[in-house]
Amino acid sequence: MMAVVIHNACLLPIDDVMSVREDGWVHVEGDAIAAVGTGPAPCPDGAEMIDAGGDVVMPGLVNPHAHLPMTLFRGLGEDVDDRLFRYVLPMERKFVTPEMVRVGTLLGAYESIEGGVTTIADMYYFEAEVGRALDEAGLRGVVGQTIADFDPPDHKTVDDGFRLVDDLAAAFAGHPRILASIAPHAPYSTDVPVMARVARWADANPGVPVQIHLAEMDSEMEWCRKHHGLRPVAVVEKAGLLRPGLIAAHCLYVDDGEIERMARADVRVAHNARSNAKAGRGIAPVEAMRAAGIPVGIGTDGPMSGNTLDLFSQFGPVSMFQKLLGHSRKPMPAREVIRMATLEGARVLGLDHRIGSLVPGKKADLIRIDLSAPRTQPIYDVYATLIFAAMPSDVRDVMVDGRWIMRERQVQTLERKRVLRDAGQIAATFKAEMARIDGAG
Ligand SMILES: [Zn+2]
Repeated sequence: MMAVVIHNACLLPIDDVMSVREDGWVHVEGDAIAAVGTGPAPCPDGAEMIDAGGDVVMPGLVNPHAHLPMTLFRGLGEDVDDRLFRYVLPMERKFVTPEMVRVGTLLGAYESIEGGVTTIADMYYFEAEVGRALDEAGLRGVVGQTIADFDPPDHKTVDDGFRLVDDLAAAFAGHPRILASIAPHAPYSTDVPVMARVARWADANPGVPVQIHLAEMDSEMEWCRKHHGLRPVAVVEKAGLLRPGLIAAHCLYVDDGEIERMARADVRVAHNARSNAKAGRGIAPVEAMRAAGIPVGIGTDGPMSGNTLDLFSQFGPVSMFQKLLGHSRKPMPAREVIRMATLEGARVLGLDHRIGSLVPGKKADLIRIDLSAPRTQPIYDVYATLIFAAMPSDVRDVMVDGRWIMRERQVQTLERKRVLRDAGQIAATFKAEMARIDGAG
């Protein structure tokens, strides 16, 4: 069994008090963490010994909400107000194929690895391809097959959608890193009967997480009021889907009573600060949700909505928006942001017993971050440096399940040239289609 000892590290194990252990070490055996400590490190026979030179070593970052294949749409029609209906939906119907999903996911996986993200929850179409691509990249993933009633690219009927979910769950049963998930798109696109069916399916398939977009938009509020005389959380509740382990993305429009009901139901939230801000939507009441006991993780959303898939770009906004809401520097301290990006994000995905902190017995998902650049010096509070000054390019090494998937900024599992070339080819097709759409008026 391969053993690795990383020593002379600024170790952030993510414990109850968010301790910072200078001169720390972590000992990995096979796919798991064997021990952590400070001072003289153990030196097991045949172990790879790595002197971290004072770099930060911490758990890999957890992204609980993304649409990886949409990397191929990144930056498309940015300032066009109706870009969703003008370009995106028609182009998704025309161009979203298993191959497009594979190529887009690999591009997103490459970026995620370079940014120190080790676990990603995805929601898209042809999700088995996402699972296979994340597996190839060596990442950990929760891959959510979308079910929706707007004629999405991979299923004509809701029955077909459920068949895709069944196939996905079968394809990844027992996989060490890839977990299948069912993803009813949102209350307005998977009305109560479909959500109720998802709840029954989830009862019959324990251990398969459910992901949904919830309480995200004005138009969703309006739809729920018009069709049910209710707010989105109540519509999901009516369908029996407000259930333990539900991964709800966004949750901008939730009042105190709804927060309490979500907490009681053991719902978890994926917060997507940048994506929400860029769309002019609003700020999720993260502090209130966490105070009620709801785990909140930090998501990127799709790279069309938020542009980046690393969490460093999210950290500043996550903290700053809560400070704006509270008119004070106090809300959302730096260490809480890092907690959300690691252990709490893992809890959002129901994986906190396996990942999210550096504890013996947990899977060895960890990253090494070099904070020696002038931009990140001096350091008074390493958590503040991480969230306000560090960049994804400061991540040096990435390990998932005991395997190095990036060493000294070199991704080990994917071929950069091939990933970029394949993405570029598809983007050229998209450009031509946009020109055609614009030409047609
Ligand atoms: Zn989303």
